[in-house]
Amino acid sequence: MRQVSHKKSDQHPFLGTLPPGREARKRKLPEHKHRWEVTYSIGIVTLGLECPCGEKMERPATKAESRKLKADQDYREAESAQMHKANWDFDKNFKDEKGWKYKSYDLMTRVRKWAKKWPKDVIVCRIDDSHNANSDLVFVLHRVGRRLWGTTCYTITQCDGQPPNEWFMYPGHRAGIQKALQVMAGFRKFYKDW
Ligand SMILES: [Zn+2]
Repeated sequence: MRQVSHKKSDQHPFLGTLPPGREARKRKLPEHKHRWEVTYSIGIVTLGLECPCGEKMERPATKAESRKLKADQDYREAESAQMHKANWDFDKNFKDEKGWKYKSYDLMTRVRKWAKKWPKDVIVCRIDDSHNANSDLVFVLHRVGRRLWGTTCYTITQCDGQPPNEWFMYPGHRAGIQKALQVMAGFRKFYKDW
């Protein structure tokens, strides 16, 4: 798998010259020669362009532009493979075309063991299920180096016979949970040992 650097911008390869928000604004300009700037591409063969006056057009990409788009596409594929590899491995181990391969205690113990393979990508938190049995909240990071795309979360309950619940957080979703934990942290424990 190709290693990708963490510095490349998230922008379209040709978008560097377009100030933010400008593409959305339509300006009345006097009679002028259009100043075409690339705003999107279709595959690696067609470019969509826009003038600041709002006029739009599409044209075939040149060979050099196609090469640049292809390089960008390859980069994104490599990045994607790196970003999702922990969660792809999770799916490979615990799901098949019919859904979950295991559940409850069996799944929980298998996931705990599997998580040891991914110390930098997987966080397992202890919780309880509705039968007061130990259960796990599992967080699987989708990351490239120190850049986080998002986190897939699984609630794996031990004894209530339910399949795991699966949900997803973008980095921006963290604030809500962090707030909740912060509020909880402001309390004393009801029982000393819990
Ligand atoms: Zn124009």
